[in-house]
Amino acid sequence: MSIFLCGACGTSFEEAEDAPQRCPICADERQYVPPSGQVWTTTEKLARTHRNAWRQLEPDLMEIQTVPAFAINQRALLLRTPAGNILWDCIALLDDATKAIVQALGGLSAIAISHPHYYTTMQDWAAAFDAPIYLHAADKEWICRPSDHVRLWDEDALVLSSSVTLVHGGGHFAGGTVLHWTGEDGKGVLLAGDIVQVTPGTDHVSFMWSYPNMLPLSAAEVADVAERLALWPFERIYGAFSHQNVRKDGQAIVARSAKRYIDRLSQ
Ligand SMILES: [Zn+2]
Ligand SMILES: [Zn+2]
Repeated sequence: MSIFLCGACGTSFEEAEDAPQRCPICADERQYVPPSGQVWTTTEKLARTHRNAWRQLEPDLMEIQTVPAFAINQRALLLRTPAGNILWDCIALLDDATKAIVQALGGLSAIAISHPHYYTTMQDWAAAFDAPIYLHAADKEWICRPSDHVRLWDEDALVLSSSVTLVHGGGHFAGGTVLHWTGEDGKGVLLAGDIVQVTPGTDHVSFMWSYPNMLPLSAAEVADVAERLALWPFERIYGAFSHQNVRKDGQAIVARSAKRYIDRLSQ
């Protein structure tokens, strides 16, 4: 019996003798099945061929990235707060070294995930550190493997501690979530996942329904995401991928980018 992982998106499935027939996340219009067909691996195989690399983004915030790249190739972020460590977004590889490092840093008090593309092996991370997984209820149909650790929420915002709040942004997924952290300097930090996608120049963000299939959101949906985020002050933005680090003017960048996007659609 093995935990099978989709090779294209990293989603994990319930323990079984054989690989699943299909991956609902990849079969969705927002993702894709590779032209060579669906491929599968297992958690054991992945741990033999890959490892996790760590980088500090700023005091109390670390990036965890699997090398070589696997599936969508997003990073997870480990946020250290006085109320405990929070894993933001998830990656499929949880090897023994990662378990030992996270344990040495104090374990996890919570896991929070922006949207279903990054659910991956959240069930294993939650079990290893006995931590709740906060997921927005609007996306519950995309949970491909049940876990007693899942806590569904459906408010506009969910306060996790005095410095950390989950904010419902919507857009890319109905339950699309960002994490707002007051930051060590009090200026505000946004952990954005794909809900706002930091552009290559890191001076703008964009908002898409499907990134790989290049399918846009409507002007009304983008305006709604921007309005929801405008309530939260933030200077820095950390996106889903390792180069997506906005160091200043984050809130103005999101507002300006939403206006640019909406203007473009009306031309
Ligand atoms: Zn998949
Ligand atoms: Zn996504």
